[in-house]
Amino acid sequence: MTECLFCKMIAGEIQPDTVYETDDVLAFRDINPQAPTHVLVIPKRHIATINDIGTEDTELIGKLYLAAARVARDAGFAEEGYRAVMNCNGRAGQTVFHLHLHVLGGRDMNWPPG
Ligand code: AMP
Ligand code: ZN
Repeated sequence: MTECLFCKMIAGEIQPDTVYETDDVLAFRDINPQAPTHVLVIPKRHIATINDIGTEDTELIGKLYLAAARVARDAGFAEEGYRAVMNCNGRAGQTVFHLHLHVLGGRDMNWPPG
C-alpha cells in the first residue's frame, strides 16, 4: 500500500491539511479545490474504488458520511446544502485509487454534474 498517496497520508509520511479525524476516517482539504470548501473524506483502510467495497465495510462507509456531515456542519453549510460525491474509475474521473468522498460546499451546485 506504500504507493498509495492517501495511505501515505494515513501513515504520516505526507501531511495533509486535516480538518477532522477519527480512528476510522481522515478528512483533509483537497489540494485543488473546486468549491470554497472542498474536503476529501477517506477511510483509513485502503479500498481502491466503490467496486471494491465489501459487506465487511458497510459500517465504515456509513462513517464516511457521518464525517462528511460533520465537516459540513463545522464549515457552516450543512443546512444551506452541499455536495458529497465519489467518483468511480476512469470515466467518472477517478485519479486517486483510494476511496474518497468529496465534500464540496460554499457555492451553488449544478445538476446534472459535468
Ligand atoms: P478523484 O479525481 O475523484 O480521484 O479525486 C482525487 C482528488 O485528490 C482530486 O480532487 C485532487 O485534487 C486531490 N488530491 C490529489 N493529490 C492531493 C494531495 N496531495 N492532497 C490533497 N488532495 C489531493
Ligand atoms: Zn490507500
